[in-house]
Amino acid sequence: MGLKQKILVVGAGPVGSLAALYAASRGDKVEIYELRSDLRDPSTTPLNFTRSINLALSERGINAMRHAGHQKLIDHVMGATIPMRGRMIHGKRADGSLYEEPQDYDAHGRCILAIDRGGLNKRLLDILDEMPNVTFFFNHKLTGADFKNNKAWFEVRENGSVSQGQRPREIEVDFDFMIGADGAHSAVRYHMMKYTRMDYQQMYIDTLWCEFQIPPKTIDPDASLGSKFSISPNYLHIWPAKEFMFIAIPSEDGSFTCTLFAPAVVYEHLEFDPAGSLIPRFFDKHFPGVTALIPPADLITQFHRNPHLPLISIKCSPHHYGSSAVILGDAAHAMVPFYGQGMNAGLEDVRILFDILDKHAILDEMSSGVDRAASRARALAEYTAVRIPDAHAINDLALQNYVEMRASVLSPLYRLRKFLEES
Ligand code: FAD
Repeated sequence: MGLKQKILVVGAGPVGSLAALYAASRGDKVEIYELRSDLRDPSTTPLNFTRSINLALSERGINAMRHAGHQKLIDHVMGATIPMRGRMIHGKRADGSLYEEPQDYDAHGRCILAIDRGGLNKRLLDILDEMPNVTFFFNHKLTGADFKNNKAWFEVRENGSVSQGQRPREIEVDFDFMIGADGAHSAVRYHMMKYTRMDYQQMYIDTLWCEFQIPPKTIDPDASLGSKFSISPNYLHIWPAKEFMFIAIPSEDGSFTCTLFAPAVVYEHLEFDPAGSLIPRFFDKHFPGVTALIPPADLITQFHRNPHLPLISIKCSPHHYGSSAVILGDAAHAMVPFYGQGMNAGLEDVRILFDILDKHAILDEMSSGVDRAASRARALAEYTAVRIPDAHAINDLALQNYVEMRASVLSPLYRLRKFLEES
C-alpha cells in the first residue's frame, strides 16, 4: 500500500499496544513512546499504583484483537481469562441470613471474561518485541507536538525519573502519523487542541474507587481449579448498597480483585477511624459477608494503603487532525467503569480506525495513485464522523449503568422485568 510511513504511537497501554500491532502488521515503521518504564520490568509501578486491576473483556475488545491477525495473541488472551456468566448479587434478608442471587447476562449462556489488565498489556508488548519494524522508547514523555510540520518532543527520563535540579534531556522526533493513546490526561489531545477547534467536555463524578483483594483459598495440591476460589469464580460479584457498592472480579490465581465505589464523603467518614473498627462495621452493615472473605485487619490495611482514586468521563470532538494525528482509547473518550467497556471501546477504536484507513488506501491506490497523507486525511475525517456518536453513547451508557449496578439490581421493578423476560 504505497510508501512506508513512520508512525509514532504515544502510550503503550492496551490501546496503544494494539494500535502499534495493527500499524506494524501493515509494514510501516512504528515507534512507541511510553512515559513509564517497561511494564514487564518488575520494578515498574503499575498505572494505578497498586496491583494491576482486573477487567471485564467483552466481544467488542476480543473482536478487535482477533482482527489483529495474530493467533498467538488470541490464544494467549482466551487462555488467560475466566468466564463470568452474570452478576452475583449479595445481600442480607430481613431475618439476618445472607443470600446470593445469580443474574445471568444472557439467555444463551454467553459470558464476559475476567482478565488481568497487566497480563494482557505485557502479552501485546511481547508480540511487538518480536516485530523488526517496531522500536520501543520507554521513559519518554511527550511534551510538545507540531502537527503542521509533524514534529514531536519528548522528555527523556533517565532511570524512569528526572533528577532534582537537573534539566531533563529532550529529543525531537519527526513522523508521518501520530497515534495518541496516552490515556485520560492525554498530552496528544492537549497539543491537538491548539491546531483544531476541538470541543471538549470532562466531568468528575462524585465517586472514588479503592481496590481490595480477596486472597485465594489455601490450596490442596490435588484440588481442582474451583477450590482456589472463596466464592464462585464465574460471576461478577456485586454488593449493591444503593448509593455505593462493592464488586469482586475473579483472578486466575484464585484471588478476587475488588473495588469499593463510594462518594467522597463516605471515604472521609471511613478515613477518620481512630479505633480502627469503623471500616469492618461499615462493611458488615452494607456489604454483608465481605469480612468473612477479607479479614477485618486486612480490610483496614488495604483501605488505608491503596489509593482512593477519582473517576472521570471525557467527551471530545474531533478525534483527529488532518492527516497527522488521531487520539484513541481513554485519550479520546475516558469513561466511568460501570459498563465495563472503557478498554473494550478503546480496542474497538483501533479496529475501526484501521478498517477505514485500509479502505481509503485501497480506493485511492486504484484511482489516483499513492498519496498516503491525502488518503489518510480522508480516512481520519471519516473515522471521526463514524466513531464520535458511538463513543459519546457508550460514555452515557457507562454513567447510567452505575445506577443499575448499585441500586436497580435490588429494585422490585428490576425483578418484575426479569420475571417477564424469563417467562
Ligand atoms: P491507559 O491504559 O491509560 O494507557 C495510557 C498510557 O499512556 C500509559 O501507559 C501512560 O503511562 C502513557 N502516557 C501517558 N501520558 C504520556 C505522555 N505524555 N507521553 C508518553 N506516554 C504517556 N475497561 C473495560 O473495558 N472493562 C472493565 O471492566 C474496566 N474496568 C475498569 C475499572 C476501573 C476501576 C477503572 C479505573 C477503569 C476500568 N476500565 C475498564 C477502563 C480501562 O482501564 C481503560 O479504558 C483502559 O485502560 C484505557 O486504555 P488506554 O490504553 O487508552 O489508556
